[in-house]
Amino acid sequence: MPTRIHQVVLTLCLLLASPGLRFASAQEKAASLVTIESGDLPIILSAPHGGHDAIANVAERQGEGVERFNPRSDSNTDILTERLADAIEKKLSKRPYVVIARFHRKYVDANRRGRDAYESEEAKVVYDSYHQALAKARSQVMERWGRGILFDIHGQAVEPKAILRGTQNGKTTAHLVGRFGRETLIGETSLFGQLASQGLPVIPAVGTDDRERVGYDGGYTVITHGSGSGGTLDAIQLEFGNELRSNEAIPSTVSKLTDAVAAFAKQYLSTEERAALVERKERRTGQVRVGVYCDVGAGPSHKDLLKALQKFEDVSVRKLMADDIRNGALGDIDVLIQPGGSGGGQGRHLGENGRETIRSFIREGGGFIGICGGAFLASADYSWSLNVLDARVVDRNHWARGKGTVQIELTDAGRQVLKSKEQQLQIFYAQGPLLAPRNHPDIADYETLATFKTEIAENGAPEGVMKGTTAIARGDFGRGRVFCFSPHPEMTEGLEPLVHVAIDYVKRKHLP
Ligand SMILES: [Zn+2]
Repeated sequence: MPTRIHQVVLTLCLLLASPGLRFASAQEKAASLVTIESGDLPIILSAPHGGHDAIANVAERQGEGVERFNPRSDSNTDILTERLADAIEKKLSKRPYVVIARFHRKYVDANRRGRDAYESEEAKVVYDSYHQALAKARSQVMERWGRGILFDIHGQAVEPKAILRGTQNGKTTAHLVGRFGRETLIGETSLFGQLASQGLPVIPAVGTDDRERVGYDGGYTVITHGSGSGGTLDAIQLEFGNELRSNEAIPSTVSKLTDAVAAFAKQYLSTEERAALVERKERRTGQVRVGVYCDVGAGPSHKDLLKALQKFEDVSVRKLMADDIRNGALGDIDVLIQPGGSGGGQGRHLGENGRETIRSFIREGGGFIGICGGAFLASADYSWSLNVLDARVVDRNHWARGKGTVQIELTDAGRQVLKSKEQQLQIFYAQGPLLAPRNHPDIADYETLATFKTEIAENGAPEGVMKGTTAIARGDFGRGRVFCFSPHPEMTEGLEPLVHVAIDYVKRKHLP
């Protein structure tokens, strides 16, 4: 080995010494073995196993000690992926990102971790250039659209007519499922649901919780670049049966696949770039800059919230991902709103790092509003809580107590703060927390602005527990203010202005 490296260095020195000539660097050579195209859609297509080319100075892999060693290519998946990119561009007038391995799998297996993927330094350069291209595409998609999807294209021969799904049983699509529900993975509107509706057999079957086929359930690429390891790019491995990728079958497969991808994109992806969605980011006099958490754990109600916020003329809105929060985005906003959804999902996705960033933001005078799931998050009751409202959650076990309109009763303070003449309000409730004082020594006591007058007690929740618990609360945290709604003003027609009242109440005090 040392001799060979010495030789390479020597050759390189000789090459560099020749004036006027330019030779391809190792990186450039590697680049020619990987097709890399930037796109204008939040969709990435990758194909690690369809290549044919040899790699200079690289021998075929021996595979010693490699689990499930496989040097065979997934034939025609390179062509299938190219055609798919072209067809998507034709149908949507925009092109997906594309990363295709042109090297044969017997030299490098681009869908394995490094030590199982290559057996020499020269091969490593090629492997790295493949995954760096994917990592770059992933971060660009997250930056430009906030989120997106990667389809990793493979071939298999165990189910010749079918397509197998590989997501580590949902792990690599954690963000998508967290945001839009399990339907996005297994339902009729999922990618595989769309494929099945065009007559393509899929495994697992649509609408079932059946496990993915072992050995085809999602490899290194979807595990590494998908949302199971954080971030907002979801990843799905598609394993096409050999009858679907024969030369004769490719046109029909590509056409169905394109329709499925387009339908999926329409339903679950935002093809508008984020820059266009960030409204009035620059500050105008008197504008309150509101950040809305739109990442893992945010439920569908965050859309109602964004819609309600649009109507407030003195409010500018920015959508925030957990990464944005961890990377300092709170420095540019006055009020953070954590919307409905899963408080645990939000808290865990923010991580201790993100949660502490939010705490210091409020401590230093920033405003915080939690709605439903966001109020669970604000409480001081869970390992993933923010601990910014001195509240515990009553009857934690029966959090899934049902949804519907309830009556809440405002306290005197509540009527004053919420500027309401009414003492009782009808408001939509969707399994928000039943709050009660926690008496934490380090957090200021909260003030009750409203309590539940009527209740919902389904799914085994005992009756009589919800009534009288806190429905709306406010508290101080450091120099900042915290406001929590257990029910949903933004989803109750006529009560949307309560969100504005809350923004006004918690916004940084130095604002006009
Ligand atoms: Zn494969």
